[in-house]
Amino acid sequence: MPELPEVETVVRGLDRELRGKRLKDFVFLSQHLVSKQPATALSLENYYGKKIKKIWRRGKVIVFEFSGQLGLIVHLKMTGQLYFVCPDQLLDKHSHARMAFYGFKKELRFRDIRKFGYLNCLKVEEIQKKIQTELGPEPLEMNFQDFFSQLQRFGKKRIKGWLLDQKIIAGIGNIYSDEILFEAKISPERKTISLSPKEARNLYRAMKSVLKKAIELKGSSVSDYVDSLGQPGKFQKRHRVYGREGKPCFRCQGTTVQRKKICGRSAFFCPSCQS
Ligand SMILES: [Zn+2]
Repeated sequence: MPELPEVETVVRGLDRELRGKRLKDFVFLSQHLVSKQPATALSLENYYGKKIKKIWRRGKVIVFEFSGQLGLIVHLKMTGQLYFVCPDQLLDKHSHARMAFYGFKKELRFRDIRKFGYLNCLKVEEIQKKIQTELGPEPLEMNFQDFFSQLQRFGKKRIKGWLLDQKIIAGIGNIYSDEILFEAKISPERKTISLSPKEARNLYRAMKSVLKKAIELKGSSVSDYVDSLGQPGKFQKRHRVYGREGKPCFRCQGTTVQRKKICGRSAFFCPSCQS
């Protein structure tokens, strides 16, 4: 699933190309996107001719802000892709929505093999409310005080699950939680309350450095992820534990990376380096 660095990369590409453009056409090609619209959703015709003010991200969600207070919230979920193509490029059965803009030769397509993703047409205000109630703070904007108090507050949670909980911190998923915990030398099974202030500080620093590096390298492509130009990321080449079960640990060499189900998810970690 695309996580913060991947979504950030997509958003930067979309905003760079589309800010200020007016929407010419917007079509859902698959019924499942229509049935995922909430009761308060606006119809697509409302968006025709509206100008894109900006495109931004919160956690793993993408928000298109149009003129007239119209918004579009997109979640890529497992296999969603948002990218530009030439309009004459053949539509395959996994392409579920398309958008065209005045004065812009390419069109934007939403492609999603597993169909867990969604595009919801809502007022910007409603999107903001939804984000406020459903998502915790941004990891790259959070200060250490807040980070530490959240660790205390959810003390019984295992640290792997704590990092994955979008209501506590928004944007981290399975790949980056493993990479962050490896960087911080903390076992994914630890209860958050057991972390010393020094360990918490290491975790906080690791969270920022891993995410920043991943954004710099335009995210990780482990399955379907591509950016707005259809290009894969490069951070998968830097993964130190994720997907490396049975391979020697890059840090201690002597131990092999293990995979274990923790908080319902696969966690990859080095049992020697991480305690
Ligand atoms: Zn190790």
